Amino acid sequence: MSQIIQPEPALVLFSGGQDSATCLAWALARFSRVETIGFDYGQRHRIELDCRALLLERLRREFPDWGGRLGADHIIDLGVLGQISDTALTRESAISFAASGLPNTFVPGRNLLFFTFAAALGYRRGLRHLVGGMCETDYSGYPDCRDDTLKSLQATLSLGTEHRFVVHTPLMWRDKAATWRLAEALGGAALVELIRRDSHSCYAGDRERLHAWGYGCGTCPACDLRRHGWLEYREGEGGAAEELPAES
Ligand code: ZN
Repeated sequence: MSQIIQPEPALVLFSGGQDSATCLAWALARFSRVETIGFDYGQRHRIELDCRALLLERLRREFPDWGGRLGADHIIDLGVLGQISDTALTRESAISFAASGLPNTFVPGRNLLFFTFAAALGYRRGLRHLVGGMCETDYSGYPDCRDDTLKSLQATLSLGTEHRFVVHTPLMWRDKAATWRLAEALGGAALVELIRRDSHSCYAGDRERLHAWGYGCGTCPACDLRRHGWLEYREGEGGAAEELPAES
């Protein structure tokens, strides 16, 4: 767990969700120092920003090896994104699916912007390894989550800054169940439990109901994906697959 593979620092795009929390652990197991960046863009599930701080604090406390390598956390105000997007994440509208087949939670090109800001910060702080939890295995069809998009972005960021950036997406070919297995391989049951309780995925921002798979409303697409992944992971573990009643 304390073996460093890359003697260089990295910057993790850390939203406070399951995927980015797993990516953070992946980076802490790999890089000599890890900083985090989060974006405040008026998202409706803003509560994930509050979850970030708690998750970072518990990670430091429960994984002292990693805690020693965990550096600064940066929050970037991208409120301007709310002005140019018209989606369920930034407005109090119902989450439904648009005719395009994309959920209307879609903020066009969001990850392109996130990585561009991460690269600008990374450039200034000497962090050329950028890590994000994008995935095209069981995603919702977001084109800016695709492997080709991010490989192309890596080239663009490197060319545009004359600075070699490496974009890492360790979850690209993993589904949600495999993401839980990765967390277990990285930090055992303690990390799985930390991510289960302290990471946030629910689009509705529900932190009232604790299910077997974590907090959430239980009905939005993010909760649905998270629940299915958890059940598949637990079945694979030979554990109880049935969902436990929600705690409050
Ligand atoms: Zn939900």
